[in-house]
Amino acid sequence: MTRTVYVNGEYLPEHEATVSIFDRGFLMADGVYEVTSVLDGKLIDFDGHYARLERSLGELDMANPTTHEDLLEVHRELVRANGIEEGMVYLQVTRGNPGDRDFAFPPEDTAQTLVLFTQSKPGLANSPAAKTGIKVISIEDQRWARRDIKTVQLLAPSLGKMAAKRAGADDAWMVEDGHVTEGTSNNAYIVKDGAIITRGLSNDILHGITRAAVLRFAAEAQMQVVERLFTIDEAKEADEAFVTSASTFVMPVVSIDGAAIGTGEPGPVAKRLREIYLEESMKAAI
Ligand code: PLP
Repeated sequence: MTRTVYVNGEYLPEHEATVSIFDRGFLMADGVYEVTSVLDGKLIDFDGHYARLERSLGELDMANPTTHEDLLEVHRELVRANGIEEGMVYLQVTRGNPGDRDFAFPPEDTAQTLVLFTQSKPGLANSPAAKTGIKVISIEDQRWARRDIKTVQLLAPSLGKMAAKRAGADDAWMVEDGHVTEGTSNNAYIVKDGAIITRGLSNDILHGITRAAVLRFAAEAQMQVVERLFTIDEAKEADEAFVTSASTFVMPVVSIDGAAIGTGEPGPVAKRLREIYLEESMKAAI
């Protein structure tokens, strides 16, 4: 089946969808994105992703080319047209095509680019990786200073994932000034003596939509949550570690730089949080 994608108001077969070579997303990474997961054909936390999209756009003085209602409709139509039961909807907004290359922002009436496509991932909720846990390595955080904005500048995370792959691991945790910032495409947590520890929100990390939900569910389940800095050495001594993201939900981490975390198997806190997250999110899915 040919995938149907959305480009600037049109639903098209993917091979007919095009964006200009002058698009500022292509030339300057002048764009923001969101990834919303789909379970049981429904969108998980669409409102959270929409709110973060608005914030990312605002932080970059970029207009919002769409509305909550229209965007929800496009998401649902793509999920329907592509028969997505489990997977993701990717959305990208750029400052558009000014017709040439120039560092200055284009005139405000320049049409922006809005692109959405789906990715089918059967078995996402029941992922085998969640049963075994993943291995991470630590790397220097080489990204810019506004990681709270979800821009399409993904070269540093991409290099990080490749370094992990070459080391026989699944992902990398990034470290700055001796402290873990986050994973290449997820937020990072450790568990020590029952307390869930994760870095607090600032410009240093992406404000994960899954993070917000998981911390809320953890508090509701009377689990202790501490938002503070932690080091890789502290993480290696932790009882458990895990990451969260829209596409992996809650994913246990079982080794860091080759050192087993806790028993070397997914821990009870990560397992429980994954169960609660999936159950609650599916109840609230739209
Ligand atoms: N941190 C980074 C750097 C990310 O790229 C992502 C997701 O892509 C996350 C955290 C997790 O965010 P969310 O839970 O909203 O998917």
